Amino acid sequence: MSLHPETLLAHAGTSVDTNNGAILHPPQMVTTFHRSGDGSYPSGNIYTRSSNPTRRLFEETLATLEGGAACAAFSSGQAATMAILQSLSPDSHVLIPESAYFGIGALLSEVLEGKSLTFDRVDMTNLIEVKAKILPNTRLIWVETPSNPLCLISDIEALARLAHQNEAVLVVDNTLSTPLLQNPLKHGADLVMHSVTKFLSGHSDVLAGAVIAKEETLLQKIRQVQILGGAVMDPFSAWLALRGMRSLGARMRIHQENARLIASFLAGHHRVKCVHYPGLATGDVQTLVAHQMSGYGGLFSFEVYGTAEDALAITSRVKVFTRATSLGGTESLIEHRYSVEKPPTTTPPTLLRCSVGLEHPDDLIEDLAQALSF
Ligand SMILES: *Cc1c(COP(=O)(O)O)cnc(C)c1O
Repeated sequence: MSLHPETLLAHAGTSVDTNNGAILHPPQMVTTFHRSGDGSYPSGNIYTRSSNPTRRLFEETLATLEGGAACAAFSSGQAATMAILQSLSPDSHVLIPESAYFGIGALLSEVLEGKSLTFDRVDMTNLIEVKAKILPNTRLIWVETPSNPLCLISDIEALARLAHQNEAVLVVDNTLSTPLLQNPLKHGADLVMHSVTKFLSGHSDVLAGAVIAKEETLLQKIRQVQILGGAVMDPFSAWLALRGMRSLGARMRIHQENARLIASFLAGHHRVKCVHYPGLATGDVQTLVAHQMSGYGGLFSFEVYGTAEDALAITSRVKVFTRATSLGGTESLIEHRYSVEKPPTTTPPTLLRCSVGLEHPDDLIEDLAQALSF
């Protein structure tokens, strides 16, 4: 019987403990494992930096949900990104989106560039431009779709073809969609990266990341970097992430329904210039969304008329939304990204990003309506 993702999620990490009948295993808060007299490790575990049963349970669950062969779980989304980049051979060139989660560009430009890698930014929604920027030593193309915070949609299948023609791998940051709404490996991507901190965990209390590979061999070097470098997901975070994932199906339905209602309200507001949300896409973008996604998610952004200061002032008036960074929790968050990212960011100065939580949608709409009335 092939089960739907909602069913797999509802049972994530649950199985009967035959020792005592408990229907859940507690987190294995332990660093080291017993060695037999003959020198072997019968459990397969040696030391928690290399492997831990709770982390492995999380990894197997997420690999299944993404349709991948294997998964490695990290101490944060950025640690997962770092391991992917550090696994490349020296002198590799990397292409990243002009508009994407701010941290990947900062990691490349401030930490890695020059040491072993070079990189370029490109508009990943424009395949002609992507093709033109591929170099003979391009080994990795990174795409985030929908992107944070502009919700840009890139064509995963077309980018995978371009990458493979050049012996490069395509990595998709799938944080905003989660495996419930988009499975990039099924569209030709080689690796999927998640900030587990966001919708997957879902309660703003876990910092974690993950990489899922289409084939086990693609994960070997990444695992080596992870285990030797030590940026692993700790057992309690793995346990909390699994607990969060069990309600992802139900949460995502509400995140998305709320986001759709608020985005539609804002799209008709006289102070709002435009709303960026996959659910409001039109034309070719709408076709692409329908082809590679099964839902629109809970994050959108909007641009207001006026200045950066006007946009910031709107956030000062919210009462139900919380002013904070991050996304994917039960509470709605609003953020003026431009003042965090600073020029030369591609994020517009008058953009506000909203992560829509599980509150009653009328309260959220009323809150934004009063914040926008000045
Ligand atoms: C938050 C985020 C990251 C980074 O993840 P951390 O867990 O904060 O290290 C990467 N990509 C996207 C899209 C994110 O939202």
